[in-house]
Amino acid sequence: MKLATVRTQAGTRAVRLDADRAVQTGHADVGELLRHPDWRDLATAADGAEHALDGLDYAPLVPAPEKIICVGLNYRDHIQETGRTPPEYPTLFAKFPPTLVGAYDDVLLPAASDQVDWEAELAVVVGAPARHVSAAEAVAAIAGFSVLNDVSVRDYQYRTLQWLQGKMFEATTPLGPALVTPDEVDGGTAIDAEITTEVDGEVLQRSTTGQLVFDPAALVAYVSEIITLRPGDVIATGTPGGVGHARTPPRHLSDGNVLTTRIAGVGECRNVCRKEKLS
Ligand code: ZN
Repeated sequence: MKLATVRTQAGTRAVRLDADRAVQTGHADVGELLRHPDWRDLATAADGAEHALDGLDYAPLVPAPEKIICVGLNYRDHIQETGRTPPEYPTLFAKFPPTLVGAYDDVLLPAASDQVDWEAELAVVVGAPARHVSAAEAVAAIAGFSVLNDVSVRDYQYRTLQWLQGKMFEATTPLGPALVTPDEVDGGTAIDAEITTEVDGEVLQRSTTGQLVFDPAALVAYVSEIITLRPGDVIATGTPGGVGHARTPPRHLSDGNVLTTRIAGVGECRNVCRKEKLS
C-alpha cells in the first residue's frame, strides 16, 4: 500500500495511492491517519473523494512529525571508502518540521551560505508507539518507507562539533512523495533498494540501503531506548558516499539546480533549488 499527503483547496488530505487514482482516507494527513492503531484497515477500506494521479500536489508526507531523528555515518561502503571502522553506536541528531518540503516543492538555498549539499536518505516512518523494544519487536512499529534528502548547510554544520545548525534550515528537506509499506519493497523492513542523488541529471550518489550499518529495525530499537517513538515520527537513516563537500574540489547546490532523490520501489523527490532572497 502507498499513502501520501496531498494539498487540496480545503487543506491537506491523506490519500491512498492506487494504480489509477488517489482516494481520500478521511484524515488531514498521513500523520493523523497513523495515529489510529487500525490505520492499515482504515486506509485499505477508504473510499473518500478521488483524485487523478496526474497533478497531485504533494505536501511533506508527514507535515508535522513530533520527531525527526537523523542518523550520521551509517553506510558500510561509505565508511570503508573513508578508511574508518564501523561505529559502535549510531550518531543521532534532529530536525524540526519547518525544515520539511513536499516531494516536488522548491528547496530553499539559504542566503547565508554558498555551501549547501545533498544527502539522499531512506526515511523510516513510525506506525505504532515504540518504547524499549527489541529489534525484532521494532519491525511491527515500522509503517513504511519514504524518500528524504537531508540537505545540509556545510559551513554552518561544521562551525561547531554539534551539527544541528547546519541541518535545521527552513524549507530544505524534501520528504515524500509517498509512504510505501514494507510488504511492497525488496527485503521488507530490512529494505534493500538502490538509492541515488542526481543534480541536473548527473548521478552523484549511488548505493543500496542494504549497506546500512544500523538497519531500520535496529534504529527504531535504539531510539526507543531513549524516547517513545510515536506514529508519524520519521527516522532519516543516513546517506551513502558521494556528497558534495567530500569531493575534490567540493561541489554545492546553486540556484536553479534540479535535485532528484530516488529509492527504487519507494519513490522519487524532484526539487528545484531556489536561492533565498532577503528583501
Ligand atoms: Zn544526513
